[in-house]
Amino acid sequence: MRTTHWIGGKPWNGVPERTGDIYDPATGQIAGQVDFATAAVVDEAVAAAREAFSRWRTASLARRTSVMFSFRELLNARRSDLAEIITAEHGKVLSDAAGEIQRALENVEFACGIPQLVKGGFSENASTQVDVYSIRQPLGVVGVISPFNFPAMVPLWFVPNAIACGNTVVLKPSEKDPSASNFLAELFAEAGLPDGVLNVVHGDKEAVDRILEHPSVKAISFVGSTPVARYVYQTGTHHGKRVQALGGAKNHMVVLPDADLDLAADAAVSAGFGSAGERCMAISAVVAVDPVGDELVGKISERIAALHVGDGRRPGCEMGPLVTGAHRDRVMSYLDAGRSAGAQLVVDGRSHPIDGEQAGFWLGPTLFDHVGTDMSIYTDEIFGPVLSVLRVPSYDAAVELVNANRYGNGTAIFTNDGGAARRYQNEVEIGMVGVNVAIPVPVSYYSFGGWKDSLFGDAHAYGPEGVSFFVRSKVVTSRWLDPSHGGVNLGFPQNT
Ligand code: NAD
Repeated sequence: MRTTHWIGGKPWNGVPERTGDIYDPATGQIAGQVDFATAAVVDEAVAAAREAFSRWRTASLARRTSVMFSFRELLNARRSDLAEIITAEHGKVLSDAAGEIQRALENVEFACGIPQLVKGGFSENASTQVDVYSIRQPLGVVGVISPFNFPAMVPLWFVPNAIACGNTVVLKPSEKDPSASNFLAELFAEAGLPDGVLNVVHGDKEAVDRILEHPSVKAISFVGSTPVARYVYQTGTHHGKRVQALGGAKNHMVVLPDADLDLAADAAVSAGFGSAGERCMAISAVVAVDPVGDELVGKISERIAALHVGDGRRPGCEMGPLVTGAHRDRVMSYLDAGRSAGAQLVVDGRSHPIDGEQAGFWLGPTLFDHVGTDMSIYTDEIFGPVLSVLRVPSYDAAVELVNANRYGNGTAIFTNDGGAARRYQNEVEIGMVGVNVAIPVPVSYYSFGGWKDSLFGDAHAYGPEGVSFFVRSKVVTSRWLDPSHGGVNLGFPQNT
């Protein structure tokens, strides 16, 4: 199977200079190839988007909304087809893929309300016979660059709002699981989106670099690892673009002594090992406040033993493989690194039973206890099924530990003390906070974003900030002479 670019409303029909392999992570086999875009192919996509912008920017709100509603219906009807595509290339189990699509749909539904969301303001008679009003207009061609871990949801954090606001898009998804983006582009076309409004180019740094420097691309929404997010932010802004670049994470779950430990252990396991830990909101560090450590580690270990790991297409599987063999090997290397650094390897994922073909990119759930903040298993974003428990003597020590971490994407506190929870939400330097909720991903009508090294730029993704990101404001000051006064200027500016 070959996956190619989608430009101007149809598959690209050129001959690629470079391609990449697409794997089925559960079998370890190559399942297809994806074309890699050169700068010239990116230029083709930007030209198509630019041409489409000249018309799409003036398409009525009613028309844009109607396309979005149709797309919502099609996506809803085709959920299971899309889930299969995601599982086949990413490896996450089908129920996780379905969950991703549900969150994506909520963003599409939000964008269906665009007429309400892009309203400007109006001030009648700001001065005599002078009205002042603001309008919010699209930017032009915008670039969306997305990571492998949510191949449908992350593109749909941005694409619906971008096009509903009247922009046209060049989307560059991850080369590891590219097919979901083409599926979405085809659904948009079926929904009536004009050719060229949404284009998809595949590839790697070469394609990204051209998007970053192309003079016709006005804004970039990026999601990926912190080093690349920083690079995209610096390069994109250097070229005069508006950029929001969401980066990596190390999310802490603080468990206070009064917490419901069964609830906390359930949450740690599903937030630590769901999607094999390949979620930017995964919990990777559990901060156990004395004296809960031993009991909590016991409860988490019991639950890990019962986790059904295997091919995401097989019934009952709760955790799938890692996305590639190289990523699995990198994650696995942390098991020895953690042990040599002095952490206690409580559960070793290498010996977990696997319900799948042996050649798949497997690593079972792993649990470390007595992890120190100087160990690489704590300082690095592992992005795999490895959970670390750190022990601290008090609430204050927990907050200090979380705030000292360079990442600031998500965090959760588990407690039955409302006052402590309230203090935590105030004191913690993290963009998204859960109270007895391990993965506090904001609903589509709030915005998603971290602090510190988890986000470069000042606009969070989707929701109200997502809409503001994709429009620029214009303020009009207007004077019309009143015919009942004989068209005489009644006074601006003299009469103000
Ligand atoms: P990645 O940074 O390797 O890749 C992201 C995108 O950038 C891909 O499209 C890729 O092709 C491109 N890219 C990779 N290297 C590049 C380079 N040197 N120059 C230019 N472009 C490059 O990330 P990934 O491995 O696909 O995804 C996992 C990462 O994404 C994790 O760090 C995770 O935390 C992060 N993530 C963050 C969020 C968030 O909201 N903060 C959400 C999802 C994933």
